[in-house]
Amino acid sequence: MTDEKFIEQNQTVVKFIQLYCDDKHKNKDKKDGILKLFYNGKNLTSMPYSLCDECESLLLYANQRLQNCPHEIKPKCRNCPNPCYEKAQWKQMAKIMRTSGMKLGLIKIKRFFGAQI
Ligand SMILES: [Zn+2]
Repeated sequence: MTDEKFIEQNQTVVKFIQLYCDDKHKNKDKKDGILKLFYNGKNLTSMPYSLCDECESLLLYANQRLQNCPHEIKPKCRNCPNPCYEKAQWKQMAKIMRTSGMKLGLIKIKRFFGAQI
């Protein structure tokens, strides 16, 4: 995928996980961190976040999957012929996308994962 697409996909993930964590994990300790976007041998940009441990590790996982996505033109993850998420992470991510998506009006989520989620 292009650098722009890679950034956009990561932005969506950060936004959705952040929203979910702010909402569902209000009482957990949050860690401030910076997600550095590194793609095709380039440092693209970085994104700040403030998440609990659980959400942070999912964010880093998602970032890594995107980095390793073999598709030149990335399909929606939901429609991917070779889904790269492991089951537990996929379920967690689907839950986050669903919960945050309802808040945001389901537009981005469909673009990201496909319409059936
Ligand atoms: Zn959290």
